[in-house]
Amino acid sequence: MRYPNDTEPVITLTSGPVNAYADVLRGLSRTVLYDYDPAFQLFYEKTVEKCQAAMRLSTKPVILQGEPVLGLEAAAASLIAPGDTVLNLASGVYGKGFGYWAKRYSPNLLEIETAYNEAIDPQAVADMLKAHPEISVVAVCHHDTPSGTINPINEIGALVAAHGAYLIVDAVSSFGGMNTHPEDCQADIYVTGPNKCLGAPPGLTMLGVSPRAWEKMKANNAAPRASMLSILDWENAWSKEEPFPFTPSVAEMNGLDVALDLYLNEGPENVWERHALTAKATRVGAVAMGLSLWAASESIASPTTTAVRTPQGIDENSLRQTARGHYGVVFSSGRGETMGKLTRIGHMGPTAQPIYSIAALTAYGGALNALGHRVDIGKGIDAAMAVIDAAA
Ligand SMILES: *Cc1c(COP(=O)(O)O)cnc(C)c1O
Repeated sequence: MRYPNDTEPVITLTSGPVNAYADVLRGLSRTVLYDYDPAFQLFYEKTVEKCQAAMRLSTKPVILQGEPVLGLEAAAASLIAPGDTVLNLASGVYGKGFGYWAKRYSPNLLEIETAYNEAIDPQAVADMLKAHPEISVVAVCHHDTPSGTINPINEIGALVAAHGAYLIVDAVSSFGGMNTHPEDCQADIYVTGPNKCLGAPPGLTMLGVSPRAWEKMKANNAAPRASMLSILDWENAWSKEEPFPFTPSVAEMNGLDVALDLYLNEGPENVWERHALTAKATRVGAVAMGLSLWAASESIASPTTTAVRTPQGIDENSLRQTARGHYGVVFSSGRGETMGKLTRIGHMGPTAQPIYSIAALTAYGGALNALGHRVDIGKGIDAAMAVIDAAA
């Protein structure tokens, strides 16, 4: 084996965490300032403002001091009160998982669950809202990463807003890699983070919070306060005049600041375009090699992750181990229900570059060939290159 497990891989093509941009790594090495030094307080305020610009928010976002699972759990704990009826939309492992958190804070849980290679149908949401006027909170995962599929959150958000319910959106693995923002989908709490498409390490949550969500959280006596799970504690922390409830993750803020600069300076539209093109080249190449995509239709396939269905008779774990061992290329497995059934090729942040589709197809096809499942890698590369060159 050329690349044993105790050496670093050559190329990490995962669906998060991803290798950080080199500039972000340099940012992480900035001085760790004292949090009440005025220079840090000013820096923190400016970074929140960059985050606000990137998220295209009319309100100040909140930054929580832990990777985005913290933000998801905090959203459930803060927004969902014991009397709420929650409609959870589950088209995959993360969507389903949110329902377990929701249930901790209110026993009244309704769910729409699809097959994990499909997307939520807005008509089903409309029907459910009509049948259950008591629904007060709706939760949806935008890109259910372990399936590589996208839900129509802007359509769903319009329905939820018309119903008058609150909307919680998990956009952790889509924000920054495609055209999605909290106000586009009328989210009340929109959860994302630096460790997927923004190309920074895991360690922070970025939250978009609507004015009515602040009101609801403040009225909820059960919402965490003086707690790592609290959103309320951080409401005014963005201001250089206000205290922090606890010490912010100074080094992670340094990294996020650079990641936001890179995103805003490159131009969000350009960033989304290279994510979409890399994903398209990967999908077209995979199909040309005779492989099947996991997504039931290409229209719901994610621009930030391509999930390839594992060919029959192939052990998915061996496939990834072979790609890593022979070529030094790392892919993501499925999770939970999709584990063993698909491999995920990530196109996030620094690896959302079309040429990485060629490396991915080559390593994936090479691993299959090594395991005795013959595919024509050349056909895949030709097809992917045609997509890339047509866009040049
Ligand atoms: C990555 C991700 C998160 C954060 O969760 P981890 O599993 O801890 O990385 C949450 N939601 C989605 C959809 C994600 O892709």
